[in-house]
Amino acid sequence: MSHITVCARFRPLSSKERRDHGDSVSVQSLDSETFIFKDEKEEDFTFSFDRVFYQGSEQVDVYEFLALPIVRDAVNAINGTIITYGQTGAGKTYSMEGPSILECDQQKKGLLPRVVDGLFQCIKSSDEATKYTIKLSMVEIYMEKVRDLFDLLKDNIQIKESKVHGILLSGVTEVSILDSTEALHSLSRGIANRAVGETQMNMASSRSHCVYIFTVQQEFPKDKRIRTGKLILVDLAGSEKVEKTGAEGKLLDEAKTINKSLSALGNVINALTCSPQGRANHIPYRDSKLTRILQDALGGNSRTALLCCCSPSPSNASESLSTLRFGARAKHIKASPRVSHNDDKYTKKHGTQSPSKDGSCERIL
Ligand code: ADP
Ligand code: MG
Repeated sequence: MSHITVCARFRPLSSKERRDHGDSVSVQSLDSETFIFKDEKEEDFTFSFDRVFYQGSEQVDVYEFLALPIVRDAVNAINGTIITYGQTGAGKTYSMEGPSILECDQQKKGLLPRVVDGLFQCIKSSDEATKYTIKLSMVEIYMEKVRDLFDLLKDNIQIKESKVHGILLSGVTEVSILDSTEALHSLSRGIANRAVGETQMNMASSRSHCVYIFTVQQEFPKDKRIRTGKLILVDLAGSEKVEKTGAEGKLLDEAKTINKSLSALGNVINALTCSPQGRANHIPYRDSKLTRILQDALGGNSRTALLCCCSPSPSNASESLSTLRFGARAKHIKASPRVSHNDDKYTKKHGTQSPSKDGSCERIL
């Protein structure tokens, strides 16, 4: 049994933040897990996470601590989820993609390209007889609609639940990827489609959640057994408050929808941790598309990592504090990942090993 891994990452100060507040920062490092954060009123809050990545942190450190164990498990049919959370401009997309998905500077490469490399490396070093197939789907959740980023005509994908496979996106495009280069080009195509949507629908990428789904299928030739691991990466929409952005009209509607789905995420996390027994009877996964898609991830049949992205600047202290509080709450989730067998014969024989509906989370007391 393992907990959700929760990390905080502070990006370097932006030039605007430097202009406004010079070099001053709200975060004071104590060690690699603990820091003191000063709010707007100079009040101190101490936070402890599984790991804190301070302003000078490298992309590779984030990958190795947060993602590599999940990648290794995905290749062994244990579902994994990596989520970046934080206000717009806090470094979610930089952490996820790097400066660009096709970034050539090895040092700056983000989680996604590293995850892709990691998947293929794990497969290469595994038992040669086992046959692997990797498929990639990309969707974005905008105004509570799930849009296929590989086929823009599919702009309202339905979410279904299967006893054996868990949560599924009905009819979503799955692209087979044979190597890292192919994967990166597919990712880049999906991201470009996101940009097309932006001009058509006049939305910025920070107003939608972007979900990357890698399905890793293993086939054992000896007994024809098949098992599948799903690795989901989520670049969430900005968590800033509506009042602060001064949004009106359509922008206000977007902001309200984002806040609603992020609140739903917070409520699910609360429900998983609120009662002394560990969790409430009812977990409100169905309150948003986001929580529904992440149901397996948060509910237990997955290894989950949350990266709370923050600005270190006093000018963003209240937003950063709310991000850190979200992360602190999430730390109470315990997950118990299991191997997902989707071969009918095998599942019947080992009936208890199919993904459970509500997972098995406990509160750390
Ligand atoms: P978000 O996706 O949370 O809205 P971005 O990832 O787009 O934010 O980051 C905002 C800006 O800060 C971008 O210009 C990005 O390049 C820069 N940035 C974010 N994190 C880092 C980092 N760790 N190192 C260097 N620059 C960063
Ligand atoms: Mg972004």
